[in-house]
Amino acid sequence: MKVKSGILGVYLTALVMVLGCGAAPEYRWAVHDKNRPQPKIIAPGTASTPEQPGGPPSDAIVLFDGTDLSEWVNTKDGGPAKWKVENGYMEITKKGGSIRSKKSFGNCQLHIEWASPVPPTGTSQGRGNSGVFFMSRYELQVLDSYTEKNYEDNRTYADGQAAALYGQYPPLVNVSRKPGEWQSYDVSFLRPEFDNDGNLVRPARITVLHNGVVVHNNVAIKGATAHKQQAKYSRHEDKLPLSLQDHGNPIRFRNIWVRELPEQ
Ligand code: MG
Repeated sequence: MKVKSGILGVYLTALVMVLGCGAAPEYRWAVHDKNRPQPKIIAPGTASTPEQPGGPPSDAIVLFDGTDLSEWVNTKDGGPAKWKVENGYMEITKKGGSIRSKKSFGNCQLHIEWASPVPPTGTSQGRGNSGVFFMSRYELQVLDSYTEKNYEDNRTYADGQAAALYGQYPPLVNVSRKPGEWQSYDVSFLRPEFDNDGNLVRPARITVLHNGVVVHNNVAIKGATAHKQQAKYSRHEDKLPLSLQDHGNPIRFRNIWVRELPEQ
């Protein structure tokens, strides 16, 4: 069947060429087509340990490597980010304000690590609260949701706990580590699409691994994160900064990198 499918591939390729570029990309190549371009070669990253952050893949855009906040600005005024940097992590300072990346992103893969304060203070949304905002709008919650007594010792609403898509989806499981221990989010994010009139034609989608465990499996985001109200979309640019929330708690972050992903 190899020869036949090869010939079929030639016919299909010719057909696509005749019909023009509007054809769906999946018909561009025959199965096992030898002319199909090879994927770009990159070097993988290295895993973090509790003591040491790992390294990014070779094609990643590093947003924080433990040394400085040069890739970040204060969200409110665009001035220098006011969080402190020490011992390879950044930490939210009192009234430091939320920060955002200087670079903008649409479809992307994100790796970020965080640790909530020791000893833990506060309850519910006041206990180790921060957040990772994709496109400065769509929040993946950061919170101390570690519990040893089935939430009797530490409880908040399900769609506001650690790794929740705030106000929309609780994580599939609570795989939180203890306060002070480094936790990771690995995320694949697909930006929303709008038509020229500003109508939503495709919602944003997100897959999230918390400490290596899938907690959101390609779910459709319902709109920009909102508090105590239904999320809704409003048209925005194709690429926007990533932002990290100051919610008044001294959360630490380390090893932050992004890989831009193609349009699809
Ligand atoms: Mg938050």
